[in-house]
Amino acid sequence: MARYTGPVCRLCRREKTKLFLKGAKCESTSCPVERRPYPPGEHGRDRTRQGSEYLTQLREKQKARRIYGVLEKQFRNMYEEASRQSGITGENLLRMLELRVDNIAYRALWGVSRNQSRQLVSHGHVSVNGRRVTIPSYRVRVGDVVSLAVGSREDITIRQNLDTIDRPVPGWLEVEEGGNQVRVRVAPDREQIDTPVREQLIVELYSK
Ligand code: SF4
Repeated sequence: MARYTGPVCRLCRREKTKLFLKGAKCESTSCPVERRPYPPGEHGRDRTRQGSEYLTQLREKQKARRIYGVLEKQFRNMYEEASRQSGITGENLLRMLELRVDNIAYRALWGVSRNQSRQLVSHGHVSVNGRRVTIPSYRVRVGDVVSLAVGSREDITIRQNLDTIDRPVPGWLEVEEGGNQVRVRVAPDREQIDTPVREQLIVELYSK
């Protein structure tokens, strides 16, 4: 599946906020957003464009896409699906993003970033209900059991992540087997999703 392969710190600088795409570097003083808190490019520093309503909505959508590592077409399709579901479209969209298996691997602390978690999935380290899943966008359901493949449980990177990542596993996931497995207890509510996006702006953008 296609993914963005350009410089990731540039994405944070474009959004003028930390998107935490790189793991440890994001917490350090070498984070480019801290050192250069203005948009990238030759005229980044000079940009004084006033934020129109459209621009604000666009930036919010781009931010969400970049946090979860989803390209435009797929994101748009997810929005369309979310809008057909009952309930609040923005919340449906965020819930669908949270239930991607690469995000579950991130929430389970197996990957230090969503990018790394995506790689763990595509390299075959993750199973859903006992079957290996290598598609990062695979969507898990309530009751599904997501686990590290048996041969990956002693992987040095994964073990180190499990031992050192200082981030809570959300309550909608139940940790089992000493962190090697999580069960999706319930679909997450908006209050259980700590992603800093204003999803209503995304809905407004797409529903124009
Ligand atoms: Fe973003 Fe992390 Fe790079 Fe900082 S270090 S710009 S938070 S990806």
